Amino acid sequence: MEKYDVIIVGAGPAGLFSAIELAEAGLNVIIIEKGPDLKKRRCPAIDYKKICLRCPVCPLISGFGGAGAFSDGKITLSPQVGGNLEKYIENHSFLRLMKYVDSRLLEFGAPDRLFGTDDDAIRKIKYEAQKHGLVFVPTPIRHLGTDGGFKVLESMRNYVDRLGIDIHFNEKVEEILAKDGKVYGVRSKRNEYHADFVIVAPGRAGATWMAKQAKKLGLKTHPNPVDIGVRVELPASIMDHLTKVVYEPKLIYYSQKFDDRIRTFCVNPNGVVVQEFAEDVITVNGFSNTEPISENTNFALLVSTSFTEPFNDPITFGKSIVRLANLISGGVLLQRLGDLMRGRRSTERRISKNPVKPTLESAVPGDISFILPYRYLVNLIEMLEALDKIAPGVASPYTLLYGVEVKFYSNRIEVSKSLETSVQGLFTIGDGAGITRGLLHSAISGLVAAGEIKKRMGIKDEGKI
Ligand SMILES: Cc1cc2nc3c(=O)[nH]c(=O)nc-3n(C[C@H](O)[C@H](O)[C@H](O)COP(=O)(O)OP(=O)(O)OC[C@H]3O[C@@H](n4cnc5c(N)ncnc54)[C@H](O)[C@@H]3O)c2cc1C
Repeated sequence: MEKYDVIIVGAGPAGLFSAIELAEAGLNVIIIEKGPDLKKRRCPAIDYKKICLRCPVCPLISGFGGAGAFSDGKITLSPQVGGNLEKYIENHSFLRLMKYVDSRLLEFGAPDRLFGTDDDAIRKIKYEAQKHGLVFVPTPIRHLGTDGGFKVLESMRNYVDRLGIDIHFNEKVEEILAKDGKVYGVRSKRNEYHADFVIVAPGRAGATWMAKQAKKLGLKTHPNPVDIGVRVELPASIMDHLTKVVYEPKLIYYSQKFDDRIRTFCVNPNGVVVQEFAEDVITVNGFSNTEPISENTNFALLVSTSFTEPFNDPITFGKSIVRLANLISGGVLLQRLGDLMRGRRSTERRISKNPVKPTLESAVPGDISFILPYRYLVNLIEMLEALDKIAPGVASPYTLLYGVEVKFYSNRIEVSKSLETSVQGLFTIGDGAGITRGLLHSAISGLVAAGEIKKRMGIKDEGKI
């Protein structure tokens, strides 16, 4: 048995920001991470083959840096985008912590440039969007890129060592240990670790495990909605007038037919489309680097769905739709918008003649209407047509649609304002607790938990947190 002041499960942004904060305050901290160290994070499917080898621990979402390591590294500096922290902390505290996280990222080597600060250009985009029933949500974004994000993580990795934080890789925490309503440690196959405080930050890679632990410990949970849609790819020039101003134009549309909320998500100017492995299913995603890596821009169009009763299992619903896409195509399905509108499938021949070349070569041409329910198809087509008004060419017949993109959010665990569960000393933070959905918010959740632990241990934080 090993004894620490604080045990942290997971080395994603949430776990790392809390660990650094606590270690800087002189506490004895261990991070236990089921994935590999940063430099050992390689995906064999990307290295050698085009298909997922279904590794027991996916190196794309597990390891030092968590899901953040191969993310697009967009730091969206806003309380509204990337999580539900406004339910727990006051707006002024959020803004203070946001500035603090941003300043630490700059220290670790994030680029100076901030997108979304040209007020005149933003006003013009807002006006154009409003004319066509779209809501434009301007947010300042610091774009690290996948390459730049990796460099930031390398500096953080060195700093973690300099601070003397113990970090165990390739070790999965099997069980959270608690007695009489109080946490006292965790157990892995290798060892048992004891501490009065445990911060659990398992991300989406640990969502199923977290749900089981929550059940065992009797923690209350609430389902989050599931986001279902497609990844859209088109020539970068069509959206340049938007992406050059804000990098990621966040646009929302309420469909006329169903009054559903549809939004753009994860816009990657001059980026590429990639497969994503979400536990046992293959979905689609995209990324971009600091320098252009293609002539295309890609983004997701997502429809949020919540259920009530008798069915309220959004994760299984989303997975069933992805499984259908995986069944038909072996992974990700590809269709030209023009083919979808004409009621016919895309074929290798049609795609090879298409002026827009797909950046995800392994995607299989087919028919998305065999996968997505009518409601989603109508919503997505309506939104593409609305977007076409502010960026002519978006709804061109040559626009590529990859299916399906699904964002699963962990069930939200009931926690206090300092993100402590009903088990004393046990904090659940980040995406795995269903509280956040992005890099900035997850990092802030780490600081909130760390701040509370410091307070309980009588450590002043000199106005930092
Ligand atoms: C492809 C992609 C692109 C993205 N792009 C962006 C972006 O541009 N901007 C943005 O804001 N967000 C982006 N995100 C989301 C962002 O990466 C996440 O919101 C963020 O990483 C969540 O941080 P976290 O610390 O909560 O969890 P994670 O980063 O998921 O880290 C959790 C860690 O816990 C480990 N773990 C889980 N269970 C256990 C266990 N039982 N024992 C030990 N270790 C365990 C996991 O291996 C993992 O390393 C992207 C995500 C993906 C997948």
